[in-house]
Amino acid sequence: MSAQPDSPTSLSPDPQRILQEVFGYPAFRGQQQAIVERAASGGDALVLMPTGGGKSLCYQIPAISRHRQGLGVSVVVSPLIALMHDQVGALEEVGVHAAFLNSTLSNDEAQHIEREMMSGRLVLLYVAPERVTHPRFQAQLASLHERGLLSLFAIDEAHCVSQWGHDFREDYLQLNLLHERYPDVPRLALTATADDQTRADMVERLQLQDAQVFISSFDRPNIRYTLVEKDNPRQQLLRFIRAEHEGDAGIVYCQSRKKVEDTAAWLSEQGIPALPYHAGLDSAVRQRHQDRFLREDGLVMVATVAFGMGIDKPDVRFVAHLDLPKNIEAYYQETGRAGRDGADAQAWLAYGLADVVNQRRMIDESPAHDDFKRVQRTKLDALLALAEAHDCRRVRLLAYFGEDSQPCGNCDNCLNPPQTWDGTEAARKLLSGIYRFWQHGQQRFGAGHLIDVLRGRQTDKVAQYGHASLSTFGIGADLSEAQWRAVLRQLVALGHVVAEGEFNTLGLTPSARSVLRGEVQVVLKVPAEPTGRGKVARTKGPAQPPVPLEADALARYEALKAWRGEVARQHNLPAYVVFHDATLAEMARLAPTSLAELATISGVGAKKLEAYGEQILAVWRV
Ligand code: ADP
Ligand code: ZN
Repeated sequence: MSAQPDSPTSLSPDPQRILQEVFGYPAFRGQQQAIVERAASGGDALVLMPTGGGKSLCYQIPAISRHRQGLGVSVVVSPLIALMHDQVGALEEVGVHAAFLNSTLSNDEAQHIEREMMSGRLVLLYVAPERVTHPRFQAQLASLHERGLLSLFAIDEAHCVSQWGHDFREDYLQLNLLHERYPDVPRLALTATADDQTRADMVERLQLQDAQVFISSFDRPNIRYTLVEKDNPRQQLLRFIRAEHEGDAGIVYCQSRKKVEDTAAWLSEQGIPALPYHAGLDSAVRQRHQDRFLREDGLVMVATVAFGMGIDKPDVRFVAHLDLPKNIEAYYQETGRAGRDGADAQAWLAYGLADVVNQRRMIDESPAHDDFKRVQRTKLDALLALAEAHDCRRVRLLAYFGEDSQPCGNCDNCLNPPQTWDGTEAARKLLSGIYRFWQHGQQRFGAGHLIDVLRGRQTDKVAQYGHASLSTFGIGADLSEAQWRAVLRQLVALGHVVAEGEFNTLGLTPSARSVLRGEVQVVLKVPAEPTGRGKVARTKGPAQPPVPLEADALARYEALKAWRGEVARQHNLPAYVVFHDATLAEMARLAPTSLAELATISGVGAKKLEAYGEQILAVWRV
């Protein structure tokens, strides 16, 4: 890559002009401007912004501005070596001299980059946290600093410094060293994870006490949330993809490696192109699958949570969960990977009784401290409350992050308000069922047997334990097995019942007593029909543009995509790094006939105009 380095004096350091000229965007979004100005003028900042909010520009523009003021190189600390190549490629595409230093480089390559850095020509340098403590790298930073060429530190994914977060990285703990050695160099810490504990941890561990804190709204209005009860999860997933996301890129999260592999293979058999990704795969395979997901259209990545942090593919149209995430932060971060481009996207989750039970057990059996476990349990409860909610999912999600909001009109519960019923009687029957087992033989049983007893079924097990003589035998014949499972799941989620041990035997919690006594009303959700419900038809064939286009514009759009694909291949970069779909769609709609006209389109900056302008105009000039 051969971008000409900006000469420090000839270009404007004004952030607004950099936004327009370099990135081709007409305006800052949300708090970007305030953040950029704070950092460009040398202040520290802590930035909490949801995924897709536009964090990258928050440090890239100050870096460019300060470089243009002769202040030298900005260092970006990012935990994601696998993504640095594309991040740097995207900057070079817009004409910003950037590079990364990591273990994937040859000696020659690394030396070349070090020279670029030491000369101060480099605008942005990406490094992994472990490099920061290298003596060699420290010596280089010290030399830059002495010469006034150490401009800014950006710490991306800053929540990795917190043990409360789910992405803790030991190396991040060393990053306070940057502040200790170079207190006059401004620092910008950025993250999309926002709970109070993690926030406090970041401030303390990174010594950001003097940083200005910028908290953006965490709402992602273009994401539609749907949480369904598990029936036949694979089939449910397949129906969801076929009905609403045929040909779209998406991510499917599963808990175990095996399930990842099985699900990916199964989806492929069903004609949905899918790849597996988990930490047990060879790193070369992982990298190849990630590259394909980023570079090809319409692939589904089936993955454990090992996949996703820092993935900035803008056109992921859905994120599906086949297993319950750990907590709401994890859920929100994972689902946040959908729809970064602002176009419609969906977060879809299927969960059942077993998920609830497994998650509780994983916490109970983990070797962690009791304090830690207590926090994890509280967090799981909040997630279960979300899953069982009858009201707006978004209101609950945002409330969890401390934001007030109104029902959104874009979640399953808003679009199809669930019916509820007074389940107090059913709950009491079920709880008595568990209680009577205990009273009868000091024994606990699992869900299947309990439901058989409630429904009055004469099974071998009923005969073996003499359970037909219990007063609870047959008191629940009015509900189906599926209905009883739904009741039980909700009672577990509400914390009245626990399922424990190897066989998930059921026990009562102290709160069950007030339900048994009829002191609290239990409002339950009517189980949804397994098929069709909640489906909002979207007439969307494979790989349509983000906005509807007339026939001739659509033809131009297709031609532009083909052209972009070729450029992306030549540069070994994902297509969206060349231009976003939305930018191509706007080009196709306007069909500009001059470079000046082309330059007005959002996403077309000076460098891309120069590099690609003529080729683009030639796409429809015949
Ligand atoms: P984050 O890192 O916060 O998840 P990104 O920095 O990847 O988000 O930005 C998300 C998308 O929004 C990117 O494709 C980016 O180019 C685009 N974007 C960011 N800021 C603006 C802006 N001011 N105008 C137009 N597009 C923007
Ligand atoms: Zn809603």
